[in-house]
Amino acid sequence: MRYNQPQIYDRKDKSGDVVFTFISKDVREAMKEKRRKREDTLTAEILTSHILSLTANFYIPMIQKIHKTDDEWRQQLTPEQYRVTRTKGTERPYSGEYCEAHDPGLYACVCCGTELFESTTKFESGTGWPSFTAPIEDERIRLEKDYSYGMFRVEVLCNVCDAHLGHVFNDGPPPAGTRYCLNSVSLVLKRIADSA
Ligand SMILES: [Zn+2]
Repeated sequence: MRYNQPQIYDRKDKSGDVVFTFISKDVREAMKEKRRKREDTLTAEILTSHILSLTANFYIPMIQKIHKTDDEWRQQLTPEQYRVTRTKGTERPYSGEYCEAHDPGLYACVCCGTELFESTTKFESGTGWPSFTAPIEDERIRLEKDYSYGMFRVEVLCNVCDAHLGHVFNDGPPPAGTRYCLNSVSLVLKRIADSA
């Protein structure tokens, strides 16, 4: 008889320590669904606040777009830069040049050179990808909903040339709580000493 089987219970060893927590499948599914809904709501908040910050300006800045053909991008970029920025790829975690970089400077788009993120907003996220709390200006990046791989995420793109940069999450440090999780290969660091 298993009618009174609890849906969540701890399996303990002889000394009473919890060795395993049993969670029945329907409860697990319900928890997953709840978590997914919460993530959708929170990431939707990032999108909304980004759009509000853009429209809160008295003017909408004109962004001079750069358009190139696929062949032109292929010629300009390395195969890995092309794969990540033009086909929405992701570099392997901890493989990127800027994952643990601390040099002061400006991180620009590897495709078009637009300066996007400042080194002062870079922080150690422990994720294996360079992470920033905010772009230099909101209008330099574009955010889009991304439903790939069965997840809902917010994609970050260069607003000038539409290069794929990475994703933004809401688990970053306070006060804003945003974490721009970017691919090193999408960026080029203009070190302050370089431009002096
Ligand atoms: Zn760009």
